[in-house]
Amino acid sequence: PLFQNAIFHTTVANLRDLPDDAISEVAFAGRSNAGKSSAINTLAGRVRLAFVSKTPGRTQHLNYFTLAAGKYFVDLPGYGYAKAPEEIRTQWEGLIGPYLSRRGPLVGLVVIMDCRRPFTDLDRNLIDWFRPTGRPIHILLSKADKLSRQDQTKVLRAVKAELASWGEGAYSVQLFSSLKKTGVEEAEAVLAGWLGI
Ligand code: GDP
Repeated sequence: PLFQNAIFHTTVANLRDLPDDAISEVAFAGRSNAGKSSAINTLAGRVRLAFVSKTPGRTQHLNYFTLAAGKYFVDLPGYGYAKAPEEIRTQWEGLIGPYLSRRGPLVGLVVIMDCRRPFTDLDRNLIDWFRPTGRPIHILLSKADKLSRQDQTKVLRAVKAELASWGEGAYSVQLFSSLKKTGVEEAEAVLAGWLGI
């Protein structure tokens, strides 16, 4: 894979601790259990890379993985835990909202959505924070192996229609499966373009 030399860099809990050497970074967001860690691992080509983010104490933080000097993948905390306490949700919004709307080196956002449940309200909230930046959004419809060809085509068409309704902007979508390793090259091409790799 293109990003096979990614290594864990740092965990960030406060906006003031964001790396100041970043040239370009791509953030990965998704509901918990959408398959985000699996997708990052698949793209970065190293076993268990993003599972660093699941170690206790790091789940609510931004986890940075170095791809090349000053170029990062950023694993954002998953959202939508049914029982997340109010305090955690407030903390999450305080970190992710400003990060998405104001982070200079953030060149694009990848949103991982289970292909069987695209566009939950929480996905939309997150996207709404980022859209005003005018920067590109790429959607990975994950776990594509769980759908028949016909249903894959259907969901892809529905999501494309939704993206078209957003008007101007670089919005794209594809099917992805970490299990079957499908859609990997398509995603790599998008991210490499954004990052200038
Ligand atoms: P995260 O919480 O978004 O980081 O999700 P994970 O990557 O931990 O995946 C959540 C669950 O979905 C795990 O049980 C994975 O094995 C499963 N999963 C992830 N990707 C795929 C996929 O491409 N296909 C299938 N069938 N299952 C997947």
